[in-house]
Amino acid sequence: MAYRAEYIWIDGTEPVPLVRSKTKILDDGAEPGIWGFDGSSTNQAPGANSDCVLKPVFTVPDPIRGGDDVLVLNEVLLPDTFEPHPTNTRAACAAVAEQYASFEPWFGMEQEYTFFKEGRPLGWPTEGYYYPAPQGPYYCGVGAVEIAGRDIVEAHTTACIEAGLSISGTNAEVMLGQWEYQIGPAGTIEVADEMWMARYLLFRIAEDFGVNASISAKPIKGDWNGAGCHTNFSTKQMREDYDAVIAACEAIGAKGKVEEHLAGYGHGYEDRLTGLHETAHYTEFRYGVSDRGASIRIPWQVAKDQKGYIEDRRPNANCDPYVVARLITETVCSAAS
Ligand code: ADP
Ligand code: MN
Ligand code: MN
Ligand code: MN
Repeated sequence: MAYRAEYIWIDGTEPVPLVRSKTKILDDGAEPGIWGFDGSSTNQAPGANSDCVLKPVFTVPDPIRGGDDVLVLNEVLLPDTFEPHPTNTRAACAAVAEQYASFEPWFGMEQEYTFFKEGRPLGWPTEGYYYPAPQGPYYCGVGAVEIAGRDIVEAHTTACIEAGLSISGTNAEVMLGQWEYQIGPAGTIEVADEMWMARYLLFRIAEDFGVNASISAKPIKGDWNGAGCHTNFSTKQMREDYDAVIAACEAIGAKGKVEEHLAGYGHGYEDRLTGLHETAHYTEFRYGVSDRGASIRIPWQVAKDQKGYIEDRRPNANCDPYVVARLITETVCSAAS
C-alpha cells in the first residue's frame, strides 16, 4: 500500500517566516527523498528561477493521519549547488551543534502562543468592551471563565507524544487564550527540529478547530502579557559545577553578545521586553537567582544544588529555534573552550 509523507519546511516570509507543507505519496517501502517546490510562492525565489530543493532531515510518525504516514521536516537548498538556501538557518545550527558536541548541550524551550478566532483572542468577549477581566485568574487556571481552547491543547499534546517529540509539559498562560508547551531537554539541533515539528502540529491541529494559533510576541498591546520562548540551557560542565553556570551567564552578557543575541531572538522584541510583565527591558542585561524580571534567571534549585541550567527569558515566541540554539551554544561553549 502507498503511504503519505507530509513534507514540511520554513519559508522566506518577512519578518516572521511561515511553516509550509505539502503531501507526497510514496510506494510501500520507499523512503522520503529529495523533493522540490515553487519558491516564487513562498518568498524564496524569483518567478523566472523558482525551483527550490527540499532535503529531508527529521522524520516522525504522522499522529494526525496515523498508520504508516509520516511527517518529514526539511532543509531548503539551492537547486544548482545544493548549498543551503539563504532562508535555511538549520545548516549553520547543525554545524555549531557538531562543533561543540563534546559539551553535551541540552535545551528546554518554552513555546508560548495565543489562540485567535474572528480577530480576537479565543475566549475574549465579542460584545461590550471586548476585553475580559484583567489578568490574574488565567495562568494555570481551571474552569470555563478562566480557560479557552483546552480541547485544542490536549489534541496537540497527544499528537506531540504520538510523534515521539520530547514534549515535557503544558500550561495555560497569564493572558486568557494564551498557552505554553515545553520541548526538551534535547540537544542543540534536536530541540530546534522538534520545536518546528511541534509548531507545525499546533498550527495544523488548531486549523481543524477553525482557530489560528499565533506566535506573535505581543499579540495585544497594553497591560497584557506578551508571548515568549524562554530557553533553558546547560552543558555537561554546568550540570556539574556552579562556576560554569555563572560563566555561561557572563558569556551571554558580554559586550557585543547582548546585541547579537537580541537580533536573533525574534521580531518585535522591543514591544515585548519592556521591563514589565515578567521581562527585563531589552536595553539592560542582568542575571539573577529566581528573578523573573532578569534577562537570565537561575532557577532557585540550581543555586541550591550549586549546579544545573540557566533560563534565557528574552527569546520571543516568534523566534527561530535554530538561531536561538546556535547563538547560545556558540557563545557559551566558545567562552568555555
Ligand atoms: P518555567 O518554570 O520557567 O515555566 P518550564 O517548566 O516551563 O519552566 O520549562 C523548563 C524547561 O527546562 C523544560 O523544558 C525542561 O525540560 C528544561 N530543563 C530542565 N533541566 C534542564 C537542563 N539541565 N538543561 C536544559 N534544560 C533543562
Ligand atoms: Mn514555563
Ligand atoms: Mn510561560
Ligand atoms: Mn520560563
